[in-house]
Amino acid sequence: MQILSTVAEVQAFSARQWSTGKRLALVPTMGFLHEGHLSLIREGAKRADGVATTIFVNPTQFGPTEDLSRYPRDLQGDLDKCQSAGATVVFTPEPKEIYPPGFQTSVEVTQVSQGLCGEKRPGHFKGVATVVTKLLAMFRPHLALFGEKDYQQLQVIKALNADLNLGVEIVGMPTVREPDGLALSSRNTYLSADERRQALALSRGLKAAQALAKAGERDAQVLLERIRGFLTDAKIREDYVALVNAQTLQPLLRLEPGVPARALIAAFVGKTRLIDNLSVVAG
Ligand code: AMP
Repeated sequence: MQILSTVAEVQAFSARQWSTGKRLALVPTMGFLHEGHLSLIREGAKRADGVATTIFVNPTQFGPTEDLSRYPRDLQGDLDKCQSAGATVVFTPEPKEIYPPGFQTSVEVTQVSQGLCGEKRPGHFKGVATVVTKLLAMFRPHLALFGEKDYQQLQVIKALNADLNLGVEIVGMPTVREPDGLALSSRNTYLSADERRQALALSRGLKAAQALAKAGERDAQVLLERIRGFLTDAKIREDYVALVNAQTLQPLLRLEPGVPARALIAAFVGKTRLIDNLSVVAG
């Protein structure tokens, strides 16, 4: 497994891939890797000749009061995991390599970035869209894999890839969960044992809403109240709870047969902000 740390090295690597006709998959991450990340690397290895993983805690997607400085890191552990999952290249740049002096360009996706995390974390998706565009431009992969765990982010990346004609196949992968339902997240490491139990309310609330919809409930308010009941019982503070069109991310008042819908939550468990989402189908 090759380790790259400069943009020039990445561009030289990409040029070699293209000249030899090899298909490349890209898996961008912020590190502290878990099975969710590794599922993306393994799938990339199945679909392409090589998989590049990036490990970069992107400062521009963190707000001023967020957890940038204490975001968990374990570079050696991550490199071992990348290797065993089948990554062929890992890119671990310093922030100044990505944002050198004079850097002044950003990418903003105006529609699907609105609402949800876009509203609660101003500037977050501008940071995400800019860094992902840079990674796609320097690697020029055939495909790039992202988790549905960050559902709005996935829609933002699909939009920028289409709008900027980057020509990458964007693959969304299902959320990997603990056996009890908690979605894997690097931020779960912040949770105390009690908070870990409280955090189950997110996946349980979403599952309950999904089951209620399957049983015939169409009213968004009823479905959202079901989710909120789980958060309240677990004494978790809601950041948002929403039922939206799965493609446009516009809020829905009612489920309609044939219109794919998604229920999404962001909530604070203690000081830790967790997100989760699930598809909801009208029964
Ligand atoms: P992050 O390191 O949190 O920026 O995540 C890097 C990539 O891994 C993103 O595409 C995430 O959506 C994806 N990811 C994070 N958690 C999970 C999970 N539990 N299951 C599947 N993919 C995930």
